[in-house]
Amino acid sequence: MYFKLIIGMKLAVLRLSHRVVRDKRISTHLALTARAFGASEFFYTGDHDKHVEDSIQKIQQEWGGNLSATHIGKPWNFLKDWKKQGGIVIHLTMYGIELSDKLQEIQDLEKEEILIVVGGVKVPGQVFELADHNIAIGNQPHSEVAALAVFLDRITEGEARKQKFQDANYEIVPMERGKQTKKI
Ligand code: SAM
Repeated sequence: MYFKLIIGMKLAVLRLSHRVVRDKRISTHLALTARAFGASEFFYTGDHDKHVEDSIQKIQQEWGGNLSATHIGKPWNFLKDWKKQGGIVIHLTMYGIELSDKLQEIQDLEKEEILIVVGGVKVPGQVFELADHNIAIGNQPHSEVAALAVFLDRITEGEARKQKFQDANYEIVPMERGKQTKKI
């Protein structure tokens, strides 16, 4: 029972300018958030970092899913190719248009491939120009992880985070108190 967007749309995430020393945890959290909230691919630019790629694979060995984490060496070519192949680019930035004012328009983009771009350090002006939409999750500075989670959750109307993952070894037995997992 998946929401129509999960069926009709491919959701991918591009994290710009990863730095091995400073961003190891936050980029891994972005990949995990992408997976948990309905994206099927995770790309990152900047430093190539096996730690990010291994961390997401390790989580998936236990909890299932097959999100790939792929380093992109030439971000500009990648973005241009994405658009050339008919994909949509949505850049999340506090300077953009509030998501609530664009939600319907984005949800109506059925059968499109959507690349959601989040920054880290200063995002080059060309990204703002190339993006089909520059979307704000509120016009205050916060975090790329928060922005990504809210964006994915709103456009999938909360359905994506209820998804079951293929090949999971464990799943959680939800409860008010205590922690229980069951082997599948
Ligand atoms: N000045 C940045 C901006 O353009 O949003 C904030 C830098 S923040 C440390 C890193 C990333 O988090 C941004 O590139 C953006 O993708 C995301 N971000 C932070 N606040 C956001 C907001 N209010 N709406 C959408 N995205 C946001």
